[in-house]
Amino acid sequence: MTSIAVVGAGFGGVGSAVMLRRAGYGDVTVFERADRVGGVWNYNTYPGAACDVPSHLYEFSFAPNPHWSRRYAPQAEIQAYLEDVARRHGVLDRIRLNTEVDRARWDGERRRWTLETDAGEHSADLLLTACGQLNVPKIPPISGLETFEGPAFHTAQWRHDVDLRGKRVAVIGTGCSAIQVVPQVQPIAEHVDVYQRSPGWTFPRMDFSYRERTKRIFESFPVLQRLDRASILAFHELGAAALTSKPWLRPPFRAIARRQINKAIKDPELRRKVTPTDEVGCKRVMLTDDWYPTLTKPNVELITDPVAGVTPRGIRIRDGEQRPADVIVLATGFKTHGFVAPMEVVGMGGRTLAEEWSEVPRAYLGLSVPGFPNMFLLYGPNTNGGTGSVIYTVEAGVTHVIAALRELDHWAAAKIEVRREAAHAFDRELREALSKTVWHTGCTSWYLDENGNDPNQWPWLWHKYRRRAAEVSPETYELTAAA
Ligand code: NAP
Repeated sequence: MTSIAVVGAGFGGVGSAVMLRRAGYGDVTVFERADRVGGVWNYNTYPGAACDVPSHLYEFSFAPNPHWSRRYAPQAEIQAYLEDVARRHGVLDRIRLNTEVDRARWDGERRRWTLETDAGEHSADLLLTACGQLNVPKIPPISGLETFEGPAFHTAQWRHDVDLRGKRVAVIGTGCSAIQVVPQVQPIAEHVDVYQRSPGWTFPRMDFSYRERTKRIFESFPVLQRLDRASILAFHELGAAALTSKPWLRPPFRAIARRQINKAIKDPELRRKVTPTDEVGCKRVMLTDDWYPTLTKPNVELITDPVAGVTPRGIRIRDGEQRPADVIVLATGFKTHGFVAPMEVVGMGGRTLAEEWSEVPRAYLGLSVPGFPNMFLLYGPNTNGGTGSVIYTVEAGVTHVIAALRELDHWAAAKIEVRREAAHAFDRELREALSKTVWHTGCTSWYLDENGNDPNQWPWLWHKYRRRAAEVSPETYELTAAA
């Protein structure tokens, strides 16, 4: 039986273990460096952490949960859901916690992958990386940060031992994490300084809690939950069309975003500061109901002068002003272009994935890389969108892996590798489509690298990803018979 090693036990790792098992591939070992499953949902425990994709889409299609408390589930509930799925689907014993994979090496002779972990070596026929894209915190190189005398920490490394009551808190960054955390900190802190480098557009979140009766209806009539899911997906596809190939769909979205600012903020100067000049969707659109109202509170100040440095007692801004702070929260995002980093992956001929990706990370459908046989990436390069749900993407990716495994079995082959010409052709098609999307209309975002390359975004609708990922054809993949 084909043995499969999976790296990471977030939604990708747990979901793939379950789907592979259900498809008859039970010899799966999942490696997770943390002491529990969850991935980003295990790490991001900052106050207010919640999903901004509706729960009925942010769940596995094979494990619908009628009991979500809210339209947008909070972090603890998502974490509990994932743990419950792992337990109920019998994959918990396949997961090796507290085990980090440092290196994965292709052994051409044995046609197997060898994983070097901090608990020893492991070998498997197939390697599946499910490392996530938003899991390595980006700590900005702000001069003097190390001299700060109080606690300074990243949102994904929240210090629950630090009591923010009555403190002066400085929050650097105004992305998705910041807009969730600041409204939670404001009521308890004495003062909050929010440092904004460039503003992003937002839409109303319109969150609500599900009544017990509604949950019972979803439980009794699962078809209703599936219909709700389908309607959310259809709306996200509309958003994807607006962001990618149908710019004429954007004006209504822009009007909604502008109205949200104007409704909440009366001060023209603050309005000006929070109103982006770039296109709606160029940066990831954020969903919120309380961000702008929080910025108008008397104990909150939005600072748009660039951060010049950190001093032992606070933050120095460019005009030389020193602003006192007791605590610094870095809501500065993640290193989003490493994909499998810091793990080293060594493919055929000793070539590393980092070398293969020296210009920009690329993979056929974000899933496979020439020269790296029997390896698939979940949520790899160019599989993110400004809309949709990563879980939908992950499920489509695992479907691809299962199709590849079936090919290996069918032909009694030992090796499957994406053809270089097929990968290049896909990449050309992808870059051509990307150039027409909103993400390339001129803004800074975590989607693009410093050279303007885009290793993150999927430039088409989501059902196209699912459709294309379902197929593993001889034109695309080369099979090699067992020795
Ligand atoms: P982010 O969107 O990358 O935002 C980082 C923020 O920090 C930006 O405002 C950025 O400014 C600022 N920044 C970075 N370096 C800086 C520096 N040196 N000086 C000043 N400001 C700096 O990161 P995030 O908020 O953690 O969100 C990342 C992604 O995680 C989201 O887009 C989303 O996909 C996901 N997320 C999802 C949820 C959810 O609800 N499901 C919640 C949180 C996060 P610029 O914009 O000018 O670069």
